[in-house]
Amino acid sequence: IDVTDYQKILNQIQQELSGTKVTGRVASYVPELAKVPADKFGMHLYNLEGESFCFGDSDECFSIQSISKVFSLALAMKMIGNTLWKRVGVEPSGAKFNSLSLLEDNFGIPRNPFINAGALVVADVLVSYFSDPKAAFLTFLHELTGNDTITYNETVAASEKSEGYRNFAMANYLKSFGNMKNDVEDVLDFYFHQCSITMSCRELPQAFIVFANQGQLLGSDRQFLTGQQVKRINALMLTCGFYDEAGEFSFEVGLPGKSGVGGGIVAVHPGHYAVAVWSPPLNPKGNSERGMASLERLTTLTGYSIF
Ligand code: GLU
Repeated sequence: IDVTDYQKILNQIQQELSGTKVTGRVASYVPELAKVPADKFGMHLYNLEGESFCFGDSDECFSIQSISKVFSLALAMKMIGNTLWKRVGVEPSGAKFNSLSLLEDNFGIPRNPFINAGALVVADVLVSYFSDPKAAFLTFLHELTGNDTITYNETVAASEKSEGYRNFAMANYLKSFGNMKNDVEDVLDFYFHQCSITMSCRELPQAFIVFANQGQLLGSDRQFLTGQQVKRINALMLTCGFYDEAGEFSFEVGLPGKSGVGGGIVAVHPGHYAVAVWSPPLNPKGNSERGMASLERLTTLTGYSIF
C-alpha cells in the first residue's frame, strides 16, 4: 500500500472490520445513548493538505460526549492560561472516568482534565469566565471549525441530567474541597450540554486539525491556539485521553486522541492529519471497540505513528 493513499487504506479498514463481531455494548447509563444503533460505523481522515477520505456513516452526527472535554480544556487554557494547573493536574489516573476515589488523596485536585472530576473543574472555570458559557462554547466551536451548525442536543443533555447522580456527587465533592466556585447546578448544566454536542466523523477532524497544525487554523494564518497550548493538549490526549486505557491506545495506535462514550474517537497525527471514527459498542474500559481497532489498522497500514 502506498502510504499516502489514505482512501485505499480506509477502504481496507472498512472491509476488514465491518463484518467482524464486536463483543462490546452500547453505553446505556445515559438513556438516550442506549437508543443508538450498534451497527453504525464510519471514519473520516482530514489531512493538512485539506484533503478528505472517508467511509460508512461518516456524515451522521453522534453524541461526542467526552470528546468535548478537549474543546472545553482548549477554551479554558485560552482564557485563563497556566493558572488552570493550580486546580487540575496533568497525570493519568489509571482509574475509571467517573472515579471519586482519587479526589480524597489529592485534596480535591483532579488528576487530569479528562476524567469527569477534572472536566467539571474546567467547566467551573468557564462558568466563572463567561456570562453565557453555553453560547461562548458554541462560538468557540464555530470559530474553530468554520461551521456554525454545530449545536447541543437538548434531549441528550436532559437525559444525562435525569440520571446524573454520580456527576452531581462529584461536583458537590469538589465543592467541599473549595475547588468548585459556582453553583453545582450551573456547572452541571454546562457540563451536560457540552457532552451533548453532536458532530460527525467529517466535522470532528475539521475541529481537531488545529492540533496537527501547531495551533493554526487550516487554510488561514490565524494562530488559534499557541504552540505551547497545542503541545500540552496533545500530551494530555496521549497520556489521559482514553480513561484507564491510554497506555493501551498509545501501545496499539501511537497517536494522541480522545474517546467518548457515544462511541466516537478522534486522533491526531501532528504535521499530518486528524481522523475520527465512530462505532457505538464500547469495550469494558468504555472505548469504542471497533474504533480502537480501526485506528490500530490505520497506523499499521500507513506504517506511521508519532513514534
Ligand atoms: N456524559 C458522560 C458523563 O459524564 C461523559 C462520559 C464520557 O464520554 O466519558 O458521564
